[in-house]
Amino acid sequence: MSLENYLKRQIAQQGPITVAEFMQLALMHPRYGYYQQQQVFGKEGDFTTAPEISQLFGEMVGVWVASIWQQLGCPKDIALIELGPGRGVLMQDVLRATRHVKGFHDALEIIMIEQSVALTQTQQEALASFSMPKQWYPTLEKLPSKPSLFIANEFFDALPIHQYVQTQEGLRERLIGVEEDELIFMLSALPADIFVQRMAKQSLERDQIIEYSPACEHVMTQIAEHIKRYGGAGLFIDYGYEMPAYGDTLQAVKSHRYHPVLEDVGEADITAHVNFTALAHAAIQTGITQQHIITQSAFLNQMGIEVRAKHLKEKANATQREQLDAALHRLLSQDEMGKLFKVLMIG
Ligand code: SAH
Repeated sequence: MSLENYLKRQIAQQGPITVAEFMQLALMHPRYGYYQQQQVFGKEGDFTTAPEISQLFGEMVGVWVASIWQQLGCPKDIALIELGPGRGVLMQDVLRATRHVKGFHDALEIIMIEQSVALTQTQQEALASFSMPKQWYPTLEKLPSKPSLFIANEFFDALPIHQYVQTQEGLRERLIGVEEDELIFMLSALPADIFVQRMAKQSLERDQIIEYSPACEHVMTQIAEHIKRYGGAGLFIDYGYEMPAYGDTLQAVKSHRYHPVLEDVGEADITAHVNFTALAHAAIQTGITQQHIITQSAFLNQMGIEVRAKHLKEKANATQREQLDAALHRLLSQDEMGKLFKVLMIG
C-alpha cells in the first residue's frame, strides 16, 4: 500500500487529520515515511543541505563547538549531540575539523538523535572511523547527565506544525481530508482553542494563516533544560523567520523542485519555516539567559569562513577554486542561503 492510500483509509475511518499529523506520517511513518528511505539528499536526491554543499560549513560549526568547549574550561567529559543528522556529513566535518584541538576528542561522547532506521545506518557508517563513544537515540529522553553541546541543521523545519486560518467565524485549524478520493485541505468545524487565539495576538485578515509548532517548542525546552542543569550550549541552523509573522510556509520539495504538498506523499520532503522567536522564547522560559539569533552568513563570517576558504584555495587547482567560490556564494549570498537561513545560539 502507498502512504497516500494509508492516509485516505485512516481519514475515512477516523476523520480528517491535522497538518501536524500529516507531516509526522509523511516524513516519519515507520514503513512509508519519506525519511525512512536513504536517497533523499544530494544531487540524485531531492534537496541539498549546507553540509552537503561544502565541508566549509561543518568546519565552521567545528570552530564554534571547539571554542565553546574551551570557554567552558575544557571539561574532560562532554556530550556532542546532533539532532536530525541526515547522512552524517556535518558531524563528520565537525570531527575532522577539530581533531587537532588538544584533548577535545578524548573528552567527547557523540550522541545522534535520529528516528529513521535507514539514515541511522548511513550515519553509523559515516562515523565508523572516529573512535570516541557514540550513541544513537530516536528522541532526547535518554541524554547523559553531563555538559552537552547541541547542534542541528535543518532539523526543526522537519518537525510538525499546526496551521490556523482566519475565517469570518474566527480562527479555524487547517485539516487534511478526502474528497472524491483525493487528499484535500479543509477547515475544522470547531473554533481554534483559546490558547491559539491568544497566541495569534496580531489581528489577522481573512484567509491569513498562522503556524504553531508545539513539537519544536517541546524539543527546544528539553534541550534548554538539559543545558541549564548540566551546562553547555546549542547551535541551531534552519530557514525561518522572526515574529511577528504569518503566512503558509508548508512546502514540499521533490527532485530539487517545489511540489504540491498533497501529491506523492512520502516521496517528497515536507517542511515548514521555523519560527525562531518561538524557539528562543521556549529556551528563555526554562531560565536560559543567553540567546542570540543571527543570519547564516553572519555566523559563518564570524567563524572565519573567508580565511579558511582562502587557505583552501591556495592549495586548490582551478576547478576546485571555482567549486569553492560557488559553495561560498550559496552559503553566504543574501539571495541564496545567507539571509533566509538563521542561526540560534543558546547557552
Ligand atoms: N542535518 C542534515 C539532515 C537534515 S534532514 C543535513 O543538514 O544534511 C532532517 C533530518 O532530521 C533527517 O535526518 C531526519 O531523519 C531527521 N528527523 C526528522 N524528524 C525527526 C524527528 N522527529 N526526530 C528525530 N529525527 C528527525
